[in-house]
Amino acid sequence: MKIVMASSNKGKLKEIGQVLEPLSMTLLPQSEFVKEDAEEIGLSFVENAIIKARHACRLSGLPALADDSGLEVDYLRGAPGIYSSRFAGSRATDVDNNNKLLKALNGIPENERSARFHCLMVFMRHEADPTPLIAHGVWEGYILEQSRGQNGFGYDPLFFCPQQDCASAELTAEIKNKVSHRAQALKQLLRLLQNPNDATAY
Ligand code: IMP
Repeated sequence: MKIVMASSNKGKLKEIGQVLEPLSMTLLPQSEFVKEDAEEIGLSFVENAIIKARHACRLSGLPALADDSGLEVDYLRGAPGIYSSRFAGSRATDVDNNNKLLKALNGIPENERSARFHCLMVFMRHEADPTPLIAHGVWEGYILEQSRGQNGFGYDPLFFCPQQDCASAELTAEIKNKVSHRAQALKQLLRLLQNPNDATAY
């Protein structure tokens, strides 16, 4: 089965493509069918993932997979949330976003710095699919007072993972790809694709 991935990120396409290969599913980049990205007008990760998957289905005529992810900080009532990539403005770099986050939590003690990464993955069989498959991966941690580590991207240098006892940016890609929100969502998605009628598959 051919599936369109509603993203232009080559890393994601490769990672997800490898997981779907055993199911005889071939992941195609949406750039083959779609000129313009969907407008992400939802107010939650799941809404935006559905919007992106539906857009890819509509323009390709094929089943589509989309993901949406970001960081939720409790003290900031869930921010940066769906605005994670543009927390410090539409042209913000990772460093700008991290600096804004550090400033927003300045002086806040460790026990009030709890946070988590979310990853929503949505699979739609067609544009009007009333029951998309929805997988949700969550990675719990808290926000450090200063950056640590050189690996990863985004908020990784500020995200402390208690189970690994280090910042996410101090993990190798191999370990991060086993424990992250994206890894967990992908695992759930695989189970859902194998048992599409079992709502409790994850
Ligand atoms: P996307 O939906 O995967 O493009 O992620 C949106 C934004 O969330 C990214 O630009 C990052 O700021 C943040 N983010 C998502 N996943 C991660 C992660 O694994 N590490 C650090 N930041 C992340």
